[in-house]
Amino acid sequence: MGCHTCQIACKERSDLPVGQRWRRIIELAAGTFEESEGFVRARVSAWYLSMACNHCARPLCVANCPTGALHKRPTDGIVLVDPSRCIGCRYCTWSCPYGAPQFDALQGKVGKCDACADRLARAQQPACVESCPVRALRFGPIEELRSSANHPASRELPSPSLTDPSLVVRPHRDAIDPKQEP
Ligand code: SF4
Ligand code: SF4
Repeated sequence: MGCHTCQIACKERSDLPVGQRWRRIIELAAGTFEESEGFVRARVSAWYLSMACNHCARPLCVANCPTGALHKRPTDGIVLVDPSRCIGCRYCTWSCPYGAPQFDALQGKVGKCDACADRLARAQQPACVESCPVRALRFGPIEELRSSANHPASRELPSPSLTDPSLVVRPHRDAIDPKQEP
């Protein structure tokens, strides 16, 4: 519903400065206004996407990081940044199709969603998931999430063939398939 609670919870958990948004709410709208016989008919809709790093199976950020600062943890597939190895070259920010790595000009380094690895280690859910008042976000093994729905992307997102994101987007139950719109 676009309340931004997940985005705020993420910023608070990681104590992010102004301008750094490891999780972002993207507001989308589409449709047309049609005029007919003096009346205007609205055929519009609006929706939101809550986006962060997708901890991709084939992460371009990792492939293009020259220092190995970005790496995919073998135990669970979470993509992490080692700040001690980051030289701030920003190759990852240009490589990621989702805009996930964020350059911090003050630190001269990149930061991004780490799936709240510290919380996971304490058997807690990521802060964004726990804070969502309508339980729109879920986190877990991607095979489990895909077993209940298997939409690796929506039409607004880059092709999943680029990085094989660990992401499932489930449309709202009242969403209209544009191919079936009257
Ligand atoms: S979403 Fe971007 S930053 Fe995250 S793993 Fe994929 S390519 Fe890397
Ligand atoms: S900015 Fe840091 S994490 Fe990103 S590619 Fe350069 S060294 Fe790697």
